[in-house]
Amino acid sequence: MQPRLIIVIPCYNEQEVLPVTAPMFLNKLESLIAAEKISPDSRIMFVNDGSKDDTWEIISRLAEQDEHYIGICQSRNRGHQNAVLAGLMEAKDICDITISIDCDGQDDINAMDKMVDEYLGGCEIVYGVRSSRKTDSFFKRTTAQGFYKLLNAMGAEVVYNHADYRLVSSRVLKEFANYKEVNLFLRGMFPLVGFKSTSVYYERSERLAGKSHYPLSKMLSLAFDGITSLSIKPIKLIFGLGMVIATISFVGVIWAIVEALLGNTASGWASTICIICFLSGIQLISIGVIGQYIGKIYMEVKQRPRYIISERTYDRRERDNE
Ligand code: UDP
Ligand code: MG
Repeated sequence: MQPRLIIVIPCYNEQEVLPVTAPMFLNKLESLIAAEKISPDSRIMFVNDGSKDDTWEIISRLAEQDEHYIGICQSRNRGHQNAVLAGLMEAKDICDITISIDCDGQDDINAMDKMVDEYLGGCEIVYGVRSSRKTDSFFKRTTAQGFYKLLNAMGAEVVYNHADYRLVSSRVLKEFANYKEVNLFLRGMFPLVGFKSTSVYYERSERLAGKSHYPLSKMLSLAFDGITSLSIKPIKLIFGLGMVIATISFVGVIWAIVEALLGNTASGWASTICIICFLSGIQLISIGVIGQYIGKIYMEVKQRPRYIISERTYDRRERDNE
């Protein structure tokens, strides 16, 4: 019995690229079915992330044209990570494996064959890893690489150059459903679940149409989310920094007293100002980092839903245990 695959594709304002890439995904699905690697009732699930353009109309039309296309609609825009999560949680009870992939055609769909092969060989999670970043601009390449280095230095375990193109079995997803946090950083969370995993390598190309929704500001906020969701190292670093500065200050105080006793004290204005500026800067940064964590705790304790599905192109049989 072949596994039932659901390809989960988040879409936000993608009316230009969806008509181009949807048939490509369908071709891939059909070729996998023809090769008898996956079952004929496998599906392509589009997750409309509260798009403001005609994306949902396009998805609904696709679902009418071919039964392999299905779609769910989020009640509003919640961001890429929540859209992927909504799709995966929706899929986990009705399939054996999922593959999440962006809808813009940047990730090479041919890597799916290898992913399914690895699953059939016994792996429960297969990470799609970019073998090179030739098509990226110099800026995107260096910032992205800096991002992975920083994440790892901060103690977040992430697979190098892996974005959100991955195969995950429903068995892993059922365990993953117990990770209830609202601050999502999926690529760092899946390694925490464990199970046998591996990577497949692929070339990433340019977007086929439309434009990126990840400007620098969103990338920075994703990087920060990644670090603070997965690690408390920044708080430890601040503590360490505080200890070092406190030690230096202690030496400074003794030095100042000795100088005063020896009668060498000068006006000292410049040094006082320097110390005040330096220490208040450090304090503000430190309070800011701690504040970020408190903010996250605040978001977590509210336990608000991570996604709300407002429409489906199909009838859902059983469920809603989320
Ligand atoms: N996306 C989404 N919600 C958002 C932003 C993006 O579902 O708020 C989807 C988008 O449609 C695409 C994927 O996330 O399928 C990746 O976005 P994009 O291609 O813009 O990012 P980039 O590849 O440039 O990092
Ligand atoms: Mg993209």
